[in-house]
Amino acid sequence: MAYTITSQCISCKLCLSVCPTGAVKIVDDHYLIDSELCTNCVGSIHTVPQCKAVCPTANGCVKQPSDYWESWFSKYNSVLAKLTNKQDYWECWYNTYSQKFSEQLKKQQVVV
Ligand code: SF4
Ligand code: SF4
Repeated sequence: MAYTITSQCISCKLCLSVCPTGAVKIVDDHYLIDSELCTNCVGSIHTVPQCKAVCPTANGCVKQPSDYWESWFSKYNSVLAKLTNKQDYWECWYNTYSQKFSEQLKKQQVVV
């Protein structure tokens, strides 16, 4: 299965310049990988897929799922990443709340 570019792409152009087969294309300002040209970098001088290696995003360049379970795990990982981000959100919210609450307490202690 070829690599593919996901919605996490930020159009940095890095994969375009490193692909040894010219499989990365820009169509209507969107980056995509021509599955007919992508060799997964097998047979090139590279030992890892270059688009994935240089991509600055977490999942901008990913291998296309080839079967049900690969697809299932791909979906699972993407949902997990979203949940993890939400945990960051609540942790951040809690830290801000704690800081404000402790500032309020200090002010009340000064008044008393
Ligand atoms: S895996 Fe290799 S050949 Fe395929 S698009 Fe990425 S850089 Fe190009
Ligand atoms: S390297 Fe990643 S972020 Fe940059 S253009 Fe390619 S897919 Fe998009």
